[in-house]
Amino acid sequence: MKVAKFGGTSLANAEQIKKVCSIITSDSERRLVVVSAPGKRSRDDIKVTDLLIKCALKYISDGAAEEELKAVVGRYAEISRDLNLDSGIVELIENDLRQRMSNYGNDNDRFMDSMKAAGEDNTAKLVAKYLNSLGLEASYINPREAGMLLSDEFGNARVLPESYEKLEKLKDKSGIMIFPGFFGYSKGGDVVTFPRGGSDITGSILAAAIKAEVYENFTDVDSVFVANPNIISNPKAISVLTYREMRELSYAGFSVLHEETLEPVYRMGIPVCIKNTNNPSAQGTLIVLKREINNGPVAGIASDSGFCNIFVSKYMMNREVGFGRKLLQIFEDEGLSYEHIPSGIDNISVILREKQFDETTEQRMLKRIREELSVDDVTVERNRALVMIVGEGMTRTVGIAVRATGALAGANVNIEMINQGSSEVSLMFGIKSEDAVNAVKSLYQEFFG
Ligand code: ASP
Repeated sequence: MKVAKFGGTSLANAEQIKKVCSIITSDSERRLVVVSAPGKRSRDDIKVTDLLIKCALKYISDGAAEEELKAVVGRYAEISRDLNLDSGIVELIENDLRQRMSNYGNDNDRFMDSMKAAGEDNTAKLVAKYLNSLGLEASYINPREAGMLLSDEFGNARVLPESYEKLEKLKDKSGIMIFPGFFGYSKGGDVVTFPRGGSDITGSILAAAIKAEVYENFTDVDSVFVANPNIISNPKAISVLTYREMRELSYAGFSVLHEETLEPVYRMGIPVCIKNTNNPSAQGTLIVLKREINNGPVAGIASDSGFCNIFVSKYMMNREVGFGRKLLQIFEDEGLSYEHIPSGIDNISVILREKQFDETTEQRMLKRIREELSVDDVTVERNRALVMIVGEGMTRTVGIAVRATGALAGANVNIEMINQGSSEVSLMFGIKSEDAVNAVKSLYQEFFG
């Protein structure tokens, strides 16, 4: 059995949903299907999930959100009309949304997750209905009944290990199963969602649970490219990547797969294939445990901005037992997860995602660092980007760093931090965000030009 996941652009309107259904029916092994909520139909359009968030926010502030609700229902009504479904499904969706709103209960986080999940949940019901209307055996799968159990972290859930055994039973069901992505249930029975873009994670969990032959992830590009096509025009396509390479690339901005997607399939060794709904016969990109290195040392170049650097210096830091632990304890107390901690003899940098670090948190933490650790200096540098070159072929290859730093120097990009883990599968540079585009261009020229 294969697990096939379709992203938001693949479900944006009736025409796209027809393509999805013809992909499903063209292979009898595609029986477990994960759907996202309808995405953008054009560049300026709004995703259904974003419409639902607007609706929830309005309801929280005003106790009503009629107009916002209509915008969501309108999207489904249009799709349902264009698929020639009877109006019963739209009524069902509207009632479902009203029901969620009436269960508000003054808990904003819980309410927000319940509303966000409505996009995927109702899309799954609609797609199953459409397949039925074509005379096919297809059913909507309720994640609660199927056993998609998640941690009770609203908007940031993780799968609980006991889910796998429960979800494995889906194997015994007949017909095509349409499973809504992006959410599951806590042990307490609340709807909880993964981080944004998390339908990819649902597909991976299901593929691991049923030990699928392959996890097919259908999106709107023919393959993964070696660099962001918005920066490099016509970048080279990638036919095979390892899990490690994809994990590193998606960490640093390759948005084709959610960063947390690969863990479940990686553990079970299930290959992932990224494919294009709009061009399903294209080969796509395969992600596997091992690959032959026949295309140079670097597989891809990624960059992501939105980082900040907390730079701490103290003379003789290297002799102070426990300094690092005490510093990181302050971050832990604030509930902040750090990304990297490059260090020198008398200084250490803690690199964080900037969005977790507002001005008040900054002031509070700087005060604690100064007072509790008696440091000489502590400063915060914002608007930082990380640029990474990634590739299994970099391992034990001499001269990669010199080529990369030479390319960056040629583009007049100042490197503030260099980080290479001992796996050698990636080399990371900390730079100013404003330099990120030039950095990627120069590295592309060096390794793929
Ligand atoms: N619909 C959700 C989002 O927009 C999840 C997903 O599409 O994967 O984030």
